Amino acid sequence: MLEPPASAVLVEAFANTIDVEEASDEIATPVALAGWLKSRGLLDEPGEIPAEVHESYMALRAGIREELGAHVGDTPDPERRAAADRMLAEHPVLITARGSLTPAPGLPAERRPLAMLAIAWSELVTTGDATRLKRCAEHTCGWVFWDVSKNHSRRWCSMKVCGNRSKARSYASRQRQAT
Ligand SMILES: [Zn+2]
Repeated sequence: MLEPPASAVLVEAFANTIDVEEASDEIATPVALAGWLKSRGLLDEPGEIPAEVHESYMALRAGIREELGAHVGDTPDPERRAAADRMLAEHPVLITARGSLTPAPGLPAERRPLAMLAIAWSELVTTGDATRLKRCAEHTCGWVFWDVSKNHSRRWCSMKVCGNRSKARSYASRQRQAT
């Protein structure tokens, strides 16, 4: 299967709201976050996102990005993982009559997307698709991509750019060690 499922598209887009290389962040402020959530159809009510809720999104994104880094062999930062766990513990989900997961009805509108992102992530883990979603092994890039290779072996978002960058660097360091 080459086309990513909807849950992967969502998690990928959320993880890529931060661009490490460009040092930009699409959801850096509560207002920007609200705009992003609306553009994705995850939030329809206009309203302000409280600062502590904004922090929850940041914690979830950081935690997800750590997991995606683990898919290319990076060691996840335990603190970032724990922060995402604490955040998730505050966003309960329920099982619907059809057997799917849904945000608990008591969650305020601005918190529901957090539970929806968690549900999307759990779907990916359940189907095994999560391992195709990866954070580029080139740390100055950090772009999250969907690995379409047959054996899930890709480590860089782009072999041309990031793969070669990484190879050039290890070549340079080998040269330095040799002299
Ligand atoms: Zn890259």
